[in-house]
Amino acid sequence: MIDAHIHIFPSYRRIKAIRWIKKYIPGLVINEAIEETEILDKLRSLNISYFFNYIYPLRPEESISLNKYNNQLAKRVKNAICFGSVHPDNTDRIKIIEEAIIDFDLIGLKFHPFVQGFKILDKRMEDVYQIMQELGRPIVFHTGFEYFYKAKMSPDEIELILKKYPKLVIVISHMFYPHIDKAFHLLEKYENIYLDGTNIFSNYRESINGENVFEGMLTKKNGEYYYEVCFNYSIFELEKYSHRIMFGSDFPVAMNNLDNIYEYIKNIDISESAKKNILENTAKNFIKRFKPDFFDERGE
Ligand SMILES: [Zn+2]
Repeated sequence: MIDAHIHIFPSYRRIKAIRWIKKYIPGLVINEAIEETEILDKLRSLNISYFFNYIYPLRPEESISLNKYNNQLAKRVKNAICFGSVHPDNTDRIKIIEEAIIDFDLIGLKFHPFVQGFKILDKRMEDVYQIMQELGRPIVFHTGFEYFYKAKMSPDEIELILKKYPKLVIVISHMFYPHIDKAFHLLEKYENIYLDGTNIFSNYRESINGENVFEGMLTKKNGEYYYEVCFNYSIFELEKYSHRIMFGSDFPVAMNNLDNIYEYIKNIDISESAKKNILENTAKNFIKRFKPDFFDERGE
């Protein structure tokens, strides 16, 4: 199984990030001081063969050092597929991206516009999209959970980028939750789109006495009501496009305990072949598409 959405950050960011998620989900069993080796052991113990590691700078001064960090991580940990990033406030964006992709050998870029504080149609991002299209490498965007982040990004904005940069490959993380239909609409219309179901397949539930910050659906089971973050779209479409859908956990800032998340996705009600795509093959083919030698170099 491949976990296509992990956040191993340098410790100064890791502690803050885990503290932040635990503020909203106090029941999580995760130590904010968790070490990189413990994260890797945990993934290994749950049979994760490969994982995607995402970092992104909150300040422009962090961009290069974070990219370097992920470059080092990829060298230390042979089953990590590492992404870089950049901040719109960096004036030397192109140089940073070329260094990340060419010198640091990172596979693509990840952006979290809500946390990094920019709009994806920001003029400063145009050269970023242009160079990524030229390099033929993917961009991963955080999307959805807008009520929680108190920020907005419409699927139309992604569509405008795709129209202007038709060869750019984009991964839509979190499928615009709760508007999953809009993510599938883009998937159907544009060949270069992939979806990432991180957090959707998290089995996250909140009591109806809470604020429902994660926009869960009101659900009733065994006579009890709760808010549930779940896949609220067509299982038929999930099957049909499973070769373009990946799965991830967001660990160590996941919305549920990791074993619970993996158990949940392994038991969703779709065919074994679609499940195999979502849990492994799509991510594997994605890696091969951008790094054709990745598995050969690892003797696979
Ligand atoms: Zn994430």
